[in-house]
Amino acid sequence: MNVHFRSFALLAAFLGFGFGSAQSQPAIQPTVDITQVPAAAQPSAQFNADAATEGYMAMIPPAATARSNAYFEGGYWLVLWDFVYASAVCLLLLNLRWSARLRDLAERITRFKWLQDALYWGQYLLLTTLLGFPWEFYENFVREHKYGLATQSFWPWMGDEGKTLLVNLILGSIATLILFAIVRKFRRTWWIWGAIGVIGMIVVTVAIAPVFLRPIFNKITLLNDPKITAPILQMAHANGIPTNDVYEIDASRQTTRMSADVSGFGNTMRITLNDNLLRRGSPEEIQAVMGHEMGHYVMNHIPKSIMFLSIVYVLFFGYLFGGLQWALARWGARWQIREFTDPAVLPLVVLMAGLFFFVLTPIMNTQVRTQEKEADMFGLNAARQPDGFAQAAIHLSEYRKMRPGRLEEWIFFDHPSGYDRIHSSMVWKGENLGLFEKTPCPPVAP
Ligand SMILES: [Zn+2]
Repeated sequence: MNVHFRSFALLAAFLGFGFGSAQSQPAIQPTVDITQVPAAAQPSAQFNADAATEGYMAMIPPAATARSNAYFEGGYWLVLWDFVYASAVCLLLLNLRWSARLRDLAERITRFKWLQDALYWGQYLLLTTLLGFPWEFYENFVREHKYGLATQSFWPWMGDEGKTLLVNLILGSIATLILFAIVRKFRRTWWIWGAIGVIGMIVVTVAIAPVFLRPIFNKITLLNDPKITAPILQMAHANGIPTNDVYEIDASRQTTRMSADVSGFGNTMRITLNDNLLRRGSPEEIQAVMGHEMGHYVMNHIPKSIMFLSIVYVLFFGYLFGGLQWALARWGARWQIREFTDPAVLPLVVLMAGLFFFVLTPIMNTQVRTQEKEADMFGLNAARQPDGFAQAAIHLSEYRKMRPGRLEEWIFFDHPSGYDRIHSSMVWKGENLGLFEKTPCPPVAP
């Protein structure tokens, strides 16, 4: 959770298109040998996509399903409790006038407005980090360990938390002083310029993330095992991706999750595999996942998401413009906030942002899920590894519910469900049986 700055949490969520990561979490250790294609999914004259899908689904032991359902459904409640906890912290800061006091202190230290904004941010961040810590500790340490998904002991985990704090301190200060400068300069139209400012900051953050932000937490290296890179690069070149590099990230430092992603913007855009996928995935599975990631790349999903976020942020700032005036007219004096240019207004902004994005949860998830579905279809066509893709979906079932209801999927899923992914793979296989008739498992590229 991020009590500090909701939009930054959201921004972070858009830093990369995780195949298996994003907001929903890590893995329960290998439960089943999935390198075998089940009988119902073998190519034959009677091949039936529904039966083949059920053949794969039956490979997941019921106990594993129960466990990952519990983990994933718990995540639904976390959406609510994150919102409630963060809102409570904001209301506390406003009603006890702590926010006003932080501002007073910043004003006593310096007379420069821009420095006051940055100082206010620093104090605000430290205070909300402290207040939010018990919840952060439960959600991201205790709960992850309880489900066997985390690999870090307490102090290394705390080390990462400290680094996150430092990054938030620096990037958040810059964001705060830019936004308040905009609000002061354009008193009537700041909601338009503010939205443009945030979008600009998102583009910059996405662009620097693979090169400057991710290496703070993990080691990223060039992958140079030709057995793995050769088929991936062949696929990349065949699909118009002009790269000779594939990156590896040591995600096992934090988690057991298997994943891969596309990150960056413009020159920094790249595909990264995590070491869990490299270690546990079969060659077919790795190629299937890479095909999916290339789909994100070729279909420009990062620029399209930034376009989508631009619309969301214009709406958000419009709502903020009206909402701040309304709330400050009613409670401004009580909270000792002078007006909307006062940095002490920040907890109110965060409170309103929390409400806005909480309500928008299904819309935001659906936008991401739609692109994920597109990448799935692209990946099947590019990699031609439907069984590899079905295996990947089963691996992801370690931390994802496989068979949700329709409404459940629409509200909470930021990727197609595992059932949907296997089913798409089997429909694809059924329509391309000629590729598989000679050998049950398609030959792996050199
Ligand atoms: Zn994806």
